[in-house]
Amino acid sequence: MIRVGIVGYGTIGKRIADAIAAQDDMKIVGVLKTSPDYEAKVAVGRGFALYTLPDRVDKFKKAGIEPAGVIEDLIKASDIIIDATPEDVGRENKEKYYQRFDKPVIFQGGEDADVAEVSFNALANYEEARGRRYVRVVSCNTTGITRVLSALMLNGVGVRKARVFIARRGADPKEHKKGPINDVVPNPATVPSHHGPDVQTVLKNVDIVTMAVAVPVTIMHMHMAYLELDSTYSRDAVLEAFAKTPRIFLADVGLGFQSLAQIIEYARDLGRPRADFPEVALFRDSVTVRGNELYLMYGVHQESIVVPENVDAVRAIFGTLPKWNSIEKTDRTLKLFTEGKVYAR
Ligand code: NAD
Repeated sequence: MIRVGIVGYGTIGKRIADAIAAQDDMKIVGVLKTSPDYEAKVAVGRGFALYTLPDRVDKFKKAGIEPAGVIEDLIKASDIIIDATPEDVGRENKEKYYQRFDKPVIFQGGEDADVAEVSFNALANYEEARGRRYVRVVSCNTTGITRVLSALMLNGVGVRKARVFIARRGADPKEHKKGPINDVVPNPATVPSHHGPDVQTVLKNVDIVTMAVAVPVTIMHMHMAYLELDSTYSRDAVLEAFAKTPRIFLADVGLGFQSLAQIIEYARDLGRPRADFPEVALFRDSVTVRGNELYLMYGVHQESIVVPENVDAVRAIFGTLPKWNSIEKTDRTLKLFTEGKVYAR
């Protein structure tokens, strides 16, 4: 049983905590929060021991919550830490706390790649995390692109070039202070956006350029991609590669999937926790092949897509399960779509 401590219990951290708690080979030691707010009450309600930073203990006590300990206590009691704090805070925690303990740490995509020895995506480079002390699960957009490219490459479809255009959600649903409101913002205005180079931290030899704008929605990101393949392939061969690759969902316009809102509505109808959609939501109708050119559009649910990757990263670091066994176990326990998926190559 791998004992896992979660530092940062926000959008990503609380989802990772639930996903880890659902595994029979892992156990949550506790979660660390900085404020005794409603999310802290949710954590306690779910039975998670609540830890905080040394200077926040009194604040928690005043709010009627007795912390189980401070960050050092959580690290000591855990075999591994998953840091899901905001951008750059993970690096600060590494310098201040993690470096003093001989324990592996998983960081999130908001950190620069050099915070870790290896950047991680389960389909792309599971084995590279084995025995590492510091691993970074790449961000939501990078995970989406990496899964799409991996689906092709793992099934014998070579990708010579990838050009991906990203409409980024302006903010997460809970971020009431963030925009953009009624605007489209080059995000960043420079080309490439950081996503392309980030994909190259896990798929090292891909020729990729990305451009991104932020749009006033909170539900999902939308990617429009143009890929140059190494040869000509039939549309059926490309669709089969996507259909059998885990964590990719093919959405049909004919079934009513005409927008990203309907993807999330589907998650709600399925009763998925928090209406999450951790799969890449690929619009089947958009998949178009012209000679060796492939065009496609897909949605990325930013709040949940990296969650299964964090679960796999834990097993990948300790080497407790081979790649495909871990991916399958994670998908089944999180109740992702498994029908028709092939968990071996
Ligand atoms: P968030 O702001 O929702 O949650 C971060 C949590 O960490 C909050 O609860 C905050 O109180 C807490 N925190 C702040 N400082 C802390 C500290 N010093 N020690 C411990 N906890 C602290 O952020 P998030 O959206 O969950 O993002 C976390 C990481 O995941 C970032 O690296 C981000 O880039 C990455 N990520 C975010 C998304 C997304 O769309 N939200 C998607 C993929 C990856």
